Amino acid sequence: MLMFKGLLTVAMLACLAPAEAQGMKPRPVQVAPDSYMVQGLSALGSSANRNFISNAGFVVTPDGVLLVDALGSPALARELLAEIRHITPAPLRYVIVTHYHADHIYGLQVFKDAGATVIAQREGRLYLNSDAAQLRLAASREQLAPAIDGDTRLVAADRWIDGPTTLHLGGLDFLLQPAGPAHAPDDLVVWVPQLKLLFAGDLVFRGRIPFVGQADSARWIGALDTLLAFDARIIVPGHGPMSTSARDDIELTRSYLAYLRQSMGEAARNMEPFDEAYSRTDWSRFDKLPLFGPANRMNAYNTYLLMEQGSK
Ligand SMILES: [Zn+2]
Repeated sequence: MLMFKGLLTVAMLACLAPAEAQGMKPRPVQVAPDSYMVQGLSALGSSANRNFISNAGFVVTPDGVLLVDALGSPALARELLAEIRHITPAPLRYVIVTHYHADHIYGLQVFKDAGATVIAQREGRLYLNSDAAQLRLAASREQLAPAIDGDTRLVAADRWIDGPTTLHLGGLDFLLQPAGPAHAPDDLVVWVPQLKLLFAGDLVFRGRIPFVGQADSARWIGALDTLLAFDARIIVPGHGPMSTSARDDIELTRSYLAYLRQSMGEAARNMEPFDEAYSRTDWSRFDKLPLFGPANRMNAYNTYLLMEQGSK
């Protein structure tokens, strides 16, 4: 059977278009009982990859499916919905948004149209109604065309939550735990205690350098301490592969952020110019990780500015 399956896979791969063979289609992989994830590419969003740069996860119960995050374009979301339909006839009940960043939300309209209730942390509403969100969408319609086009729209949550909220679905509990502001103002993680499964959004990056952006890294470190208390066995992160070494991965993100704050904080306090501080800093602990090139300098610069403000 296994051999037959292997032959079939080889035969199928041979027929796939190059984009699919390169893993550019969302393919669910089981991570725990009745739980799956699709893994985006370790790359920046592009027309070619249709903004497939983030993960989504879902849990199938007899009473319906709970999905975490919506992927980076409606086309990807349609493919993910079709994959879910292959796994279960149960209705899609909820989509939980871990944060309103483009690569996690541009697929929302597909799941909303499929009847799901969208839930997010209340701070996301501020971003959704901001000029920044509109400008980003306008830019994405150019940079990510045709995956993002005039029909792609921003979708508000049906329910905005302020505090920890537990959903009960098909015998499982889903604790929605606000964890922002950290990576984003509206960070929300989903903890499934019966499965010891944590959907961590972008609070935990695995196998790549985090995108720090304008994040408040001190609070982010605090939020990671909250996650450590969950005692997760499996983490589905917002980017990169799943983790069965939850504690180590949380600690990698935590130590990267702490190192940025320590090295750039020292430079800011000494009024050392950023360029000098950056080239002097020893990055050898992190420079083998994917996306170090495109992300680390900007992360360091943002942290430098943050620490400069803090030391005034
Ligand atoms: Zn992300």
